[in-house]
Amino acid sequence: MNKKALLLVLSLVSLSISAQIERIEPAFWWTGMKNPQLQLLVHGDSISKNQITINYPGVKLLKVNKVSNPNYLFVDLLIDARLAKAGKFNILFKQNGKIKATYSYELKSRRQNSAQRQGFSSSDVIYLLMPDRFANGDTSNDNIDSQPEKANRTIDYGRHGGDIKGIQDHLDYIKELGATAIWCTPVQENNHTKYTYHGYAISDFYKIDSRFGSNDEYAGFVTASHQKGLKVIMDMVSNHGGIGAWWMKDLPMKDWIHEWKEFTYTSHKASTLKDIHASNIDKKLFIDGWFDTTMPDMNQQNPYFWTYYIQNSIWWVEYANLDGIRMDTYPYNDRDAMAKWAKAITNEYPHFNIMGEAWLASPQDIAFWQKDASNPLKYNSQLPTVMDFITQKALTTCFDEHGKSWEELGMNRLYTIIANDYLYANVNNLLVFAENHDTQRYNYVLKGDLTKYKMAMSFLMTTRGIPQLYYGTEIGMTGNKDKGDGDIRHDFPGGWVGDSINAFTANGRTAAQNEYYSYMSKLLNWRKNKPVIHTGQLTHYIPENDIYVYFRYNNTENIMVIINNNLTDQTLKLDRYAESLKGKTKGTDVMSEKTFDITSPILLPKESVLILELK
Ligand code: CA
Repeated sequence: MNKKALLLVLSLVSLSISAQIERIEPAFWWTGMKNPQLQLLVHGDSISKNQITINYPGVKLLKVNKVSNPNYLFVDLLIDARLAKAGKFNILFKQNGKIKATYSYELKSRRQNSAQRQGFSSSDVIYLLMPDRFANGDTSNDNIDSQPEKANRTIDYGRHGGDIKGIQDHLDYIKELGATAIWCTPVQENNHTKYTYHGYAISDFYKIDSRFGSNDEYAGFVTASHQKGLKVIMDMVSNHGGIGAWWMKDLPMKDWIHEWKEFTYTSHKASTLKDIHASNIDKKLFIDGWFDTTMPDMNQQNPYFWTYYIQNSIWWVEYANLDGIRMDTYPYNDRDAMAKWAKAITNEYPHFNIMGEAWLASPQDIAFWQKDASNPLKYNSQLPTVMDFITQKALTTCFDEHGKSWEELGMNRLYTIIANDYLYANVNNLLVFAENHDTQRYNYVLKGDLTKYKMAMSFLMTTRGIPQLYYGTEIGMTGNKDKGDGDIRHDFPGGWVGDSINAFTANGRTAAQNEYYSYMSKLLNWRKNKPVIHTGQLTHYIPENDIYVYFRYNNTENIMVIINNNLTDQTLKLDRYAESLKGKTKGTDVMSEKTFDITSPILLPKESVLILELK
């Protein structure tokens, strides 16, 4: 290209986005979406002085909404699914008939079968990781001029430099482990001075944090994951934004966020949402209080913000080709707005899955938040998957308890949880886990007891629901939350050049790490191909003598799980299980590969588990 042509191109580029328009979001959209409506947020100095015109077949300008801040316009478009072809068109900003600015807007073609994408399900095992703490694949993005917080691995609440490239470099590790889906804690931009590594104070809903990579790198990571047969779940936060958000400097309107005369924390009292006797101030404190000083509470009742947010979620699904969403602090949002959000997404993608964090104390509290739950308030959250914090809590104590059969201790805890499953609208859509980035490390809870670990993981991988692991658990990583969150979010060994241990490879792992890894990877790779575990029926038996027995079965397979929580060897008579054994005579243990004669009593070593494939 000669110099003259280059100058011409440059001048055309500068024309396409004038200084007056600082941003238009979403920056592009797609043709053929089920919902034909799109609302563009336009931000720019005195932008509301302009009249807007659009001339493109199939795209109709429905309404231009002015709000209290003249630097914003919210532009309603109708995109006809049949008439609007993929392509670019100009949005003209005019004053007194003169064009003041032009924005070239693009409608892209959707991927084939985009609407029919399958979300994660109980056939998956989800691997949860923190991108800053997993692997540093690109040291050139550790420190970014525009980001005030720089990398410093000596601070446990600081940024350590992990990134998207680091995850992508180790997809084979995750695949070989036997996990089938990856949930990364938020990768969207967190632009403020410190404590940004966790990602939950998002400053730009449309942008991947430069220290993790670019939007394109994130989409590329999803593509690479798909090529390995791994799904990707994006962590999103709608309850709050980040104090460094671009819109905090120039709010579209006063109620874009919840502002208080004095800084006010949320009460964390989710009970107010269902409490028919609750006072308005208690409800308001829970919903409108800030989660943290760095996290402005967003107003989901503001229709402009909420449309903006719903479109943002759909934009990421479509742009990055996601397999699922994990939504943070679910009950802290406006309840009806969340139902609208989840419905809008599952309307575009009927087979998609979304999990919401409802960290509540009882199964009925958690069940309330699942789609199609029956409750006297007639509330339907539209949220397909909820997190089973009840099982998580039980797992922290049950292997240390050895009570009598009638006491709510030991294996009876697990039995009672499963016995309460009638509360849930869909038991296959319960996320089951022993730990996550906010809880004690499970290996710390178990004091490094590998025997108990095997019992717990065997339970998680064979009970109902969608199991989730937390990175490093598979090599015995530990950490004490009482020392601060940093202690449960250590760097994965081998993720940084110069690490003394590289746990990504069998040779690099210690003997102890390999014991954990081998058990987990054998268990997960077995589960991967077992529809009977994914969707089979479950029949369980009231624990006697602290031994829990249950069966997973379908038309073709029958799996018997026996957990002996006793500190001594036990002999288990099998007559009681005749209705589930259905005349089978042999069972082969998945982990030891030993075959047992099940026509006579089985000897169970102390603290042990058997996963028997019955024949
Ligand atoms: Ca990096």
